[in-house]
Amino acid sequence: MKKEDRHIETKLIHTGEPSPPILGAVSMPIFQSSTFEYAGQESYHDLKYIRLNNTPNHIALHEKLAALEGAERALVTASGMAAITTTLLSVLTTGDHLLAQDCLYGGTHDFLTKDFRDYGITYDFIKGNDPDSWKNKLRPNTRAIMVETITNPLLQVIDLEEVVRFARTHNLISIIDNTFASPINFRPPEWGFDISLHSCTKYLNGHSDIVAGAVIGKKGLIEKITRKLDHLGGCLDPHACFLLHRGIKTLAVRVRYQNESASKIAHFLDAHPAVKKVNYPGLENHPNHGRATRLFDGYGGMLSFELKGGIEAAERFIQKTTLPFVAPSLGGIETLITRPVTTSHSGLSPEERNRMGISEDLVRVSVGIESTEDLISDFEQALAQ
Ligand code: PLP
Repeated sequence: MKKEDRHIETKLIHTGEPSPPILGAVSMPIFQSSTFEYAGQESYHDLKYIRLNNTPNHIALHEKLAALEGAERALVTASGMAAITTTLLSVLTTGDHLLAQDCLYGGTHDFLTKDFRDYGITYDFIKGNDPDSWKNKLRPNTRAIMVETITNPLLQVIDLEEVVRFARTHNLISIIDNTFASPINFRPPEWGFDISLHSCTKYLNGHSDIVAGAVIGKKGLIEKITRKLDHLGGCLDPHACFLLHRGIKTLAVRVRYQNESASKIAHFLDAHPAVKKVNYPGLENHPNHGRATRLFDGYGGMLSFELKGGIEAAERFIQKTTLPFVAPSLGGIETLITRPVTTSHSGLSPEERNRMGISEDLVRVSVGIESTEDLISDFEQALAQ
């Protein structure tokens, strides 16, 4: 069997592993060495050095991550934000313009709205659910379009195939933050995206114990972004590489369980009389359910909902649950619960949140790998209170 034909579960375990294994080690050892002996390299970027993201721990991860999404190359970074900012600063320069989906992760949104002007880069937000309006925002200097696979915290899925078509028609680089889906549920390069970004802090590592990021895509673009990262310095430490490498191996079993569990919890909440609205693309009543079914291999482990009792009921529910941690972030093995207005979206103004449809009483859940039955019974007792 050719390496490319292996199933994703096999790639997670075997692709990128040293062959033969180093001194017979079944698990990739940590190369905690900042520098390596000079071996006649002709370019600065080829010297082996942790900041240049090219030690054995980096290389193994790069090969594995590229294979997972069927891409030519991958690059790990110090955080999801390092992946996002380094990518944007690599593909855009002074005078350039970006089109960005109007409901991006708070950190990305802040980078565009607060930092872009320092670099002389401009942007316009586009309504994800209205592709006909995107053309009006195009400018002669528009170079790229950036979207997210599933939006946070409303779990919307825009027409991702149209994003790729639009980018190709207008000669733009298409960039997608695929953190929420993970390569198990969606692989952007297979659908024609130029660059797929991840906060590996979430599903890829999956254990809420490191911060890391990844950029996956075409060879030329990843090389360009690697050069920029060499200078900006957002490299991943080998110990974090080791933890990410270990976490990735169980990605398929974790995410598939989380898909199933989140789906059962979403259906339970949807049928509960105290619940006003549930946002989960796996629900038949979700406005993007058909599209999500066509594009994804699973609907993900994230959901959000509003209670009929408003903020007070939402706060009481959160306080009365006993299993989830009340914490921001997502994608780990433990269930996390939060009100986005107090955490992930607290940096936005009330007007911005209103425009995006993020209400004060919205509760977001990142479903972990605990027993689904135990989570539902915990939510049931919290709702009863
Ligand atoms: N992208 C998404 C969708 C996120 O949810 C996050 C963090 O919550 C990030 C990017 C940033 O990742 P990191 O915290 O690893 O920098």
